[in-house]
Amino acid sequence: MATVKADLSLCQGYANCVVAADDYFDIDDEGLVVLLKTEVPDSERTRVEEAARSCPVSALWVED
Ligand code: SF4
Repeated sequence: MATVKADLSLCQGYANCVVAADDYFDIDDEGLVVLLKTEVPDSERTRVEEAARSCPVSALWVED
């Protein structure tokens, strides 16, 4: 199963990821992304990868 990861030092709180997949991503009180879950089943991988690509500062990625 793939895993979604975030680099909080890059996150600027644009929330594109939340709009794209609010079951995986949220924003905390400081405006940083929160991963609601990290394991990505194959059936959801394309959707989560698209959400990761929507991040303007490339703070998210999916890896095996
Ligand atoms: S889209 Fe990127 S910068 Fe915006 S909240 Fe998500 S991870 Fe952070």
